[in-house]
Amino acid sequence: MSSDRKQFDVLVVGAGPAGIAAAATAAEYGAGVGLIDDNPTPGGQIWRGESANGAGEPARWLTKLHHQNIQLLSGTRVFDHPAAHVLHGETADGFLELSYQKLILATGARERFLPFPGWTLPNVMGAGGLQALVKSGLPIEGKRVVVAGTGPLLLAVASYLRKHGAEIRMICEQASRLSLARFGLALLSQPPKITQGLSLRKGLSGVPFLTKSWPIAAGGDGVLKEVLIRSGGGSEKIACDYLACGFHLVPNTELPALIGCRMRDGYIDVDELERTSVPDVFCAGEPTGIGGIELSLVEGQIAGATAAGRPDVAQRHGRARTKLERFARALDRAFALRPELKTLPLPETIVCRCEDVTYARLKPYGSWRSAKLETRCGMGPCQGRVCGPATQFLFHWSPDSVRPPIFPTVLKNLAAMAFIEAHPSGAMRGSQ
Ligand SMILES: Cc1cc2nc3c(=O)[nH]c(=O)nc-3n(C[C@H](O)[C@H](O)[C@H](O)COP(=O)(O)OP(=O)(O)OC[C@H]3O[C@@H](n4cnc5c(N)ncnc54)[C@H](O)[C@@H]3O)c2cc1C
Repeated sequence: MSSDRKQFDVLVVGAGPAGIAAAATAAEYGAGVGLIDDNPTPGGQIWRGESANGAGEPARWLTKLHHQNIQLLSGTRVFDHPAAHVLHGETADGFLELSYQKLILATGARERFLPFPGWTLPNVMGAGGLQALVKSGLPIEGKRVVVAGTGPLLLAVASYLRKHGAEIRMICEQASRLSLARFGLALLSQPPKITQGLSLRKGLSGVPFLTKSWPIAAGGDGVLKEVLIRSGGGSEKIACDYLACGFHLVPNTELPALIGCRMRDGYIDVDELERTSVPDVFCAGEPTGIGGIELSLVEGQIAGATAAGRPDVAQRHGRARTKLERFARALDRAFALRPELKTLPLPETIVCRCEDVTYARLKPYGSWRSAKLETRCGMGPCQGRVCGPATQFLFHWSPDSVRPPIFPTVLKNLAAMAFIEAHPSGAMRGSQ
């Protein structure tokens, strides 16, 4: 087995906008930085596929990663936190032990999925998931796509897919027109967001946009053919090739929770300098609140400067942070899930798709823990990342602990962990 050890002043987990800003800022103020991400290239969800040779804001930030103080570790996934100031991860080559003086967690967010009849059919996908596949080369030209769920991501994805030749049949937003109008008012203090929203709507002119509407069933013979949409007290069948469906975002809090960071209202609790409740551990970006790329960038800079010993620099971003946090709260209010969505699954609808556990099997249980023990719900490869947020909404369950490994890993990495524990100070590079 191949193993390696690396040590940094500041270690950043997650190379989305928050992690990139954190790493670049910490490096600028003299820290030796390790930046880890499980994707092949940095960029996170929104800058996936962008490069330092491109144009605009992504390229400007990605260029900063060429700093001599930064070591970029792409294709590396952290799966355990065995002791203070140590993380364990896996790369294509094997096991990696990482130690640090300061840790910045910038692990981002993922889409929330809700179960409804037919949601596991091929070509029913997460909205951001379909966008990511198209960015990676999936041909979408001429395909009929229904975009449904909730949150600003729906417009961003619909606009992206249309630009790449998809026929957007309809956008179905579960929030009401009134909620969206209030959200619009909250944006008045953020002109760039209004411009962004208007430009997205312009690019989608002619595409029906329904509010208070959501998918109640997806149908097809082995692959998606049509989706039944509930709207205005009735329902309508729409023929399509893809259903791009996501119900806003949920923060990736598993690693911070494993490390012991305190949570508040579902997010990691941080102070104005992005410090968590655990000494030397900071958190930035979506795990502290879903607030979009601008807030992630500001929080990353605050965390990076503080971790590098420059809280005075971090404090300069305080006003921007406060303003953008208002946007994050407005997002949470506007796109809160409506209770009717709890009635979407039928008894036979699969809720945990890794372990094939249906709604009827889960309903008798009173907690996530007992449902897990009795049905294996949440014990498959995704480790509850999909069914966890769904059961939280459907049954008000929440996980009572996070246990390692937080991502599935191969047995040889577990063996390497045991070996490294037995040889705490030995050099491990390339050991067999
Ligand atoms: C699927 C999806 C698509 C989106 N598309 C858009 C869009 O088109 N337009 C828009 O305005 N906003 C979009 N957003 C929202 C946007 O991604 C965020 O506002 C912004 O990217 C947040 O930046 P971040 O750095 O906080 O997190 P992210 O960009 O999510 O970056 C976090 C990174 O951490 C990595 N990571 C997490 N855990 C580990 C681990 N244990 N080990 C190693 N790496 C890890 C992740 O793979 C990811 O690369 C999207 C969000 C999602 C979930």
